[in-house]
Amino acid sequence: MKKIYVIGNRASKSLSPTIFNFWFKKYNIKAKYSFLELNTKNFDKKTHEVLKDNNVIGLNITIPFKNKILKHTDVLDKHAEEINAVNCVLKKNRKIIGTNTDWKGYYKTLPKSKNLKGKKVIIIGYGGAALAIHYVLKTKGFKNINIYNRTRKKLRFEEKTNYTKNLTKLDKDLVDADLIINTTPLDLVGKKNTHLISKKTLLSDIVYLPKETDFLKKYPSNKKIYGIEMLVEQAALCFKLWFGFKPAPDLELNELLDFKLK
Ligand code: NAP
Repeated sequence: MKKIYVIGNRASKSLSPTIFNFWFKKYNIKAKYSFLELNTKNFDKKTHEVLKDNNVIGLNITIPFKNKILKHTDVLDKHAEEINAVNCVLKKNRKIIGTNTDWKGYYKTLPKSKNLKGKKVIIIGYGGAALAIHYVLKTKGFKNINIYNRTRKKLRFEEKTNYTKNLTKLDKDLVDADLIINTTPLDLVGKKNTHLISKKTLLSDIVYLPKETDFLKKYPSNKKIYGIEMLVEQAALCFKLWFGFKPAPDLELNELLDFKLK
């Protein structure tokens, strides 16, 4: 039987096994998707062992190994190379290929009708996932991207980036934002600044557990993009790499995930 794992230091909490095993059942695919919880000490040894198993056809990689996995790959696709992170591995022609589907997966969650390209976007946090989101927004021609991070890291894709500011300056910028994307495990907007966000602002949180994160639940009237939407989209793109077709959107899967996220 074909095997796929999600590897990470909290992989047991991942909803990826639920998503993929649902699709395997639906499409009658003889494969099993499981989690493998690794730590920095055993990561290299275990990853090497798993990749040597002929039944293993791919991996998903989650926090904190999306960069550490690079040295286990033979080839990177151009997006994974640009982002410097891999969330999806496949084996092809005896090569281990590192890919990234987070960037495209996130982009698919944005409503096309809103024509956000010329609008003001705020990204809160600049970790691995934010890097993939920044990459796709710049690639798609977004003109007004404002990034805030606790640590002042050198921004990638810098030449096209408008501002990098200290988090303390975030408040003023919230008022006229069209899209705010939280990529941190916290709500950095904070209670005292809740009123600064307009009801018209589209709010996105890539954290998916719980579905209504501390950030999202403070704005009942706003349109929202939930983290679980990105998880499903990036997973569907990995599925296509492994099995050659993209699973169709499925209400039953959405209901199952909603139940698990309660
Ligand atoms: P990461 O690389 O560790 O980045 C975490 C980010 O959060 C960094 O910007 C970090 O700031 C910031 N942060 C963490 N604790 C903070 C604090 N106490 N105060 C201020 N900032 C803080 O993680 P990641 O890979 O980007 O993932 C971020 C989240 O997104 C995780 O919860 C992950 O599960 C989720 N995610 C979801 C999907 C999906 O498909 N829905 C995909 C990928 C990730 P510093 O740089 O200052 O440390």
